Amino acid sequence: VSARIQAPRGTFDVLPDQAALRAALEERARAVLEGAGYARVETPAFEATELFARGVGESTDIVSKEMYSFDDGGGRSVTLRPEGTAPVCRAYLEHGMHKLPQPVKLWYLSSFHRRERAQAGRYRQFWQIGAEAIGSEDPAIDAELIVLLVGLLDDVGSKGLRLRLSSLGTPAARAGYRDELQAYLRANADRLSEDVRSRIDLNPLRAYDSDHAGTREVMEGAPRLLDRLADDDLDHFAEVRALLDAAGVAYDVDPTLVRGLDYYTRTVFEFDSSALGAQSGVGGGGRYDGLIEELGGPPTPGMGWAAGVERILLSGAQDSLPPAPGVVELYLALDAGARRQDAFATLVDARRAGLHAQMEQGGRSLKGQLKHADRVGARQVAIFGEGGILLKDLETGDQETVEVDAVVPRALRARSPRL
Ligand code: AMP
Repeated sequence: VSARIQAPRGTFDVLPDQAALRAALEERARAVLEGAGYARVETPAFEATELFARGVGESTDIVSKEMYSFDDGGGRSVTLRPEGTAPVCRAYLEHGMHKLPQPVKLWYLSSFHRRERAQAGRYRQFWQIGAEAIGSEDPAIDAELIVLLVGLLDDVGSKGLRLRLSSLGTPAARAGYRDELQAYLRANADRLSEDVRSRIDLNPLRAYDSDHAGTREVMEGAPRLLDRLADDDLDHFAEVRALLDAAGVAYDVDPTLVRGLDYYTRTVFEFDSSALGAQSGVGGGGRYDGLIEELGGPPTPGMGWAAGVERILLSGAQDSLPPAPGVVELYLALDAGARRQDAFATLVDARRAGLHAQMEQGGRSLKGQLKHADRVGARQVAIFGEGGILLKDLETGDQETVEVDAVVPRALRARSPRL
């Protein structure tokens, strides 16, 4: 026998139970986001590699080691999208959305790819629900987006949530701070992890994300970006916090929160769930006021977030979303000598009439068929036999012999007594 082929490492199949949960989550996301004026978009599964190199940043983990990039066959490098913000901003520019009334509010539910070390809650293909508001720097946008994610996570039953919030200021403030942090890290280089030490020049802010004990100790005493922000950035941050307070949203200001993508400016935030293991991030985002310009557009502020579908489900939504209603209203069983064509024509008619109908297709005996109809929770069973059709109501126990044309109208009547 041939060797069996399995799904690639870090990927998973979405089986029917999970598909139903995901559909329920998607419905909730749609209700929350479209209710707030965010319109659905979908961008291609792959983009020019340049988009992420420029948009996300060459020095980030994502771009430097996690992208699935390949030649498209015509000598152009393309990349399976590792995140959604740069593609949405590209689409915003490409379709002239900067000429629409601003801000433009968009949401998506799409799959993303990163070549990460696979572990519980961390996959190489995963799904994110994301929301972006482009074209306004109003702090009410920042607060609105955060409140929407709180609302969605609460609504679907995510547990043990904690919101961390910070501000990264403008690129200018960050550049000055970067120099200061680099000098501090160099002065303490002997206590840092190999990885952090090797990236002092490239991406010193990532030292905040390290789990290495020595590095963490060094970072305790590091200068804080939050203490180096310009006045207008501090005002912006204060207003975001005041709006969150007004909305009754609890958060912790966390000056060590840096996030792994280069494009962030000002507000950044992250939701963690204590219901998750090591990979505790449920969602996060921030403001990216320089990104559109980086992609060749006019200076345009923007703000958004993305939350992992798998993480949302793992953080408790799995138990709170309603299970799939696997309704069978009419089951067509075949006794010996039955005219199969009659049963099949009735099946098609029943479905056209909107009934959830099934017909025997598994080669079962009549006894097996009735057992199966019971197992799938069928309301009515029509047994097609040599002598006619017996229609049984499995809920009331009523049964009667009917003509073939009567099966669908009777089944409809049984569904809704008012018909
Ligand atoms: P990021 O784009 O890295 O800010 O990720 C936003 C959210 O997407 C995270 O909080 C996770 O919920 C989810 N996420 C990111 N990477 C992965 C992954 N490799 N596997 C599963 N979920 C992920």
